[in-house]
Amino acid sequence: MGKIRVLTEVVASQVAAGEVVERPASVIKELMENSLDAGARSLEIEVRGAGTGLLRVTDDGSGMDREDALMALERHATSKIATAADLSSVLTMGFRGEALPSIASVSEFTLRTRPQAAAAGTETLVKGGKLVAVRDAGCATGTTIEVKSLFYNVPARRKFLRSDATETSHLDRAVETVALAFPAVGLHYQRDGRTIYRAASSPTLAGRVRDLFGAEESDALLDMAEAETGGIRISGLVSRPGATRSDRARQFFFVNGRAVENVFLSTAVRDAYRQMLEPGRHPAVFVHLVMDPRAVDCNVHPAKREVRFRHGAAVRDALRASIEAALREARAAWLRPVQAHVTARLEPRSEADSSPAVIRTAHQPELPRPVLPAPALEPTAPASKAVGTAQAATRAVPEEFRLVGALSRRYLLLEGSEGLVLLDQRAAHQRILFERLQRGVAGGAVASQRLLAPEVFELPARAHETVAGNLDVLASAGFGVEVFGGHSLKVEALPDFLAGRDPRRVLEDFAAACAETGPRVHGVGADDAVRRAVTRLAVDIEGARDEREQRALVTQLLACDLPYCDPEGRPVMLQFSWRDLDRKFGRT
Ligand code: ADP
Ligand code: MG
Repeated sequence: MGKIRVLTEVVASQVAAGEVVERPASVIKELMENSLDAGARSLEIEVRGAGTGLLRVTDDGSGMDREDALMALERHATSKIATAADLSSVLTMGFRGEALPSIASVSEFTLRTRPQAAAAGTETLVKGGKLVAVRDAGCATGTTIEVKSLFYNVPARRKFLRSDATETSHLDRAVETVALAFPAVGLHYQRDGRTIYRAASSPTLAGRVRDLFGAEESDALLDMAEAETGGIRISGLVSRPGATRSDRARQFFFVNGRAVENVFLSTAVRDAYRQMLEPGRHPAVFVHLVMDPRAVDCNVHPAKREVRFRHGAAVRDALRASIEAALREARAAWLRPVQAHVTARLEPRSEADSSPAVIRTAHQPELPRPVLPAPALEPTAPASKAVGTAQAATRAVPEEFRLVGALSRRYLLLEGSEGLVLLDQRAAHQRILFERLQRGVAGGAVASQRLLAPEVFELPARAHETVAGNLDVLASAGFGVEVFGGHSLKVEALPDFLAGRDPRRVLEDFAAACAETGPRVHGVGADDAVRRAVTRLAVDIEGARDEREQRALVTQLLACDLPYCDPEGRPVMLQFSWRDLDRKFGRT
């Protein structure tokens, strides 16, 4: 007897169900996507018992006549593609024709549907993949699909479901994802009889985000100006620097309306925020990419979650550039008023310190520490301009930004029109130093100080390797160091900010800092990772000793590219609005 036999349709569907229908959330996803493919403008979603009780999606889409309603339950029945060639250009969510039969094979399934033209609708009942009844039904135009007792006949699958709380959070995520993919589609989501949200059709993604997550979260986002590069159109919302989360729950990528995961996209985000994230923090991103469907393969994963790009690196670079542009614009906008106020108000009180009354960012001879050269990078241009016109700005703007004083030489207190700003001096120094390192010796931002006599010494293999592997960056940071055979190094110079330190200790600490921060060895940000390790060597940073030093610090900080976080992503400044303060004191 042969052992090979053709599976019955029901068993085949159950097997397919294992791929398409992992859990209740996958059912909801498939049903919602079918509704969208049918042109629905509004969806009702109802869930009970973490999805194993009831899953119901009602739409106002095209509906189906009786013949189609029955066809829809056949395996590989789809109205969306006809030939394999169509696969390369699918713009619909579905195309495999597997979802409905798969779901119907592992549940008690009811399909109620009516196309606009028809007088009556059709109701179809299927239980465990067997057609139980087909009859006329009075119903509105559109489709309702109800799935009860999911996995009742496949105990093995049921056993693999997680806790109700976990399944529920997957369901929430699935609904959220569709809601964010299609802001124009109205949505009412109920769980166990309770409305979770009712989101009206929104012309913008921002409106939808606000409806789903509230004003506070949506205010912490930046709108990326829609841009097109190399046939990829990108739009969306991303976190303001500093407004990050401890999880990735607010990261959504959509390609041609389909929610996807892809390593090129997550890399783009990580790289764009590379200096702004503390370890373990993640930005919120809601990104829509629109591109030629032929440049994306979405038939990689049965649930169509992962996609493969034909030109992954190009997609990554385009997304990174878009996010960086949004962050840059936000930085410029953030700096404009602050810069005008600080420079205006920080002007020397009266004394002989006469010359131009305004503190200059660049080339200020009396500054106590090595001075920042004029910021070379484009984004800070508005900042330096603000310095020049500060006096005019004070007159125009009545509010001011006042240096109040220091708290234990650790923090500076500033008063602005919006409230109180606390500045961490150490973090500020680290930021300033880091950006000096970025401009490097060549940019005139760091000077090398020669040792009286070169020192030659050995380092343990790992440390030696770290130093030897980063000679270029070290040189640009002011180190005069070369490999001197075997495990030896020869040091002839140290950067100005490490002058007088023991070269061996410095390089040992550098290697240790590299090991700790685990700089990526290649790719975007590798050099910055090394510079971060160098920045950490400047351990003897002290708070400003007097008001002049305090002012100098603030001015140098505000000339930085990313003044609000240190190189490790920790905040440099904390703002407390008047409203926050009043609330804390119970004044409101
Ligand atoms: P696919 O979406 O891959 O085509 P499905 O099994 O999900 O496969 O659906 C099969 C077919 O049933 C679809 O191609 C579509 O024609 C029809 N269909 C499913 N859901 C709906 C709906 N809500 N409204 C109208 N037609 C639907
Ligand atoms: Mg489908």
